[in-house]
Amino acid sequence: MRPPNPQRDELHQLLLRWYDRHARDLPWRKNPEPYQTWVSEIMLQQTQVATVIPYFERWMARFPTIADLANASEDDVLQFWQGLGYYRRGRNLLAGAQYVVANGIPFDAAGWQEVPGIGPYTAGAIASIAQNQPAALVDGNVERVYSRLTADATEPPKLTQNAWKWANLNLDHHRPGDWNQALMELGATVCTPKNPQCPTCPLKNRCAAFAIGKPDSYPTPAKRTATVQLQQTLWIARCGDRIATERVPQGEWWEGMVSFPRSQTHDLTENPFDPAWPKLAGTFKHSVTHHRITLQVACVTVENAADNYTWLNAHELNAAAIPAPHRKGLELAKRL
Ligand code: SF4
Repeated sequence: MRPPNPQRDELHQLLLRWYDRHARDLPWRKNPEPYQTWVSEIMLQQTQVATVIPYFERWMARFPTIADLANASEDDVLQFWQGLGYYRRGRNLLAGAQYVVANGIPFDAAGWQEVPGIGPYTAGAIASIAQNQPAALVDGNVERVYSRLTADATEPPKLTQNAWKWANLNLDHHRPGDWNQALMELGATVCTPKNPQCPTCPLKNRCAAFAIGKPDSYPTPAKRTATVQLQQTLWIARCGDRIATERVPQGEWWEGMVSFPRSQTHDLTENPFDPAWPKLAGTFKHSVTHHRITLQVACVTVENAADNYTWLNAHELNAAAIPAPHRKGLELAKRL
């Protein structure tokens, strides 16, 4: 039992009263079982709520239970993840489901952290939201709310450690899931990174950054990683009605997905289908983490289907899990 703390109790009352009125109606909140919460939390990492909603609904229709997911193939899972990015998350969900089917559903945050792909944040979310366990969590929203409420100017990553201490000390043990969601909701909708809506904030009278008139000064920004510029060529080779594909090797972005031959330069003499003459279909930019990639799409037509590639027809390409920028390259090539 924790000793009584009137200030903490007031914080809980203010924020939970606000949350009870303003919580967004999101599909994973209708049935907060561990599996639904787990899938939604993984999808929401680095992805906006509005983008996640249709993916979550399609996922639940295709893999309605942990057992359905555990029995799926990696190709099937990646196909349903296609377009969400950070594909490792989809692969980890599959490995995690297989672990849970073999070992049983964990009943607290420590148990969830044993599951492949689940870290302290997701473990806290599942245990508190779906199992009503007294588990704290910190994501980017909670960290920002914490740094403003306390005017903590510590730079990341030490700020994250401070936020975890605060989250553990201030957890509402009666409604841990609602409290955690309320903090995240406040960060997502009111205490936003830019232009926080302080006049409508339920915690404004408890907020140190608001009191000194500097909410935008917190948290102290992390030092930026320099952007790395890369050039790549995507080779779209046709043989009759089929196109050459290959699996992305282990250790590369999108490992295990279906893609097309690529070279790490715009030099067309590096044509893997030489002597077939390449035609350029176009060039576009896309980003992966701090890398900015200028992707050139080159098309060739060949007479013989070399057996070091897998040649897929249009129907098979539609069903394949292809990274979004490479599918965009394929669409460009179709217009040539
Ligand atoms: S008063 Fe402003 S800065 Fe403070 S928690 Fe509320 S929205 Fe964030």
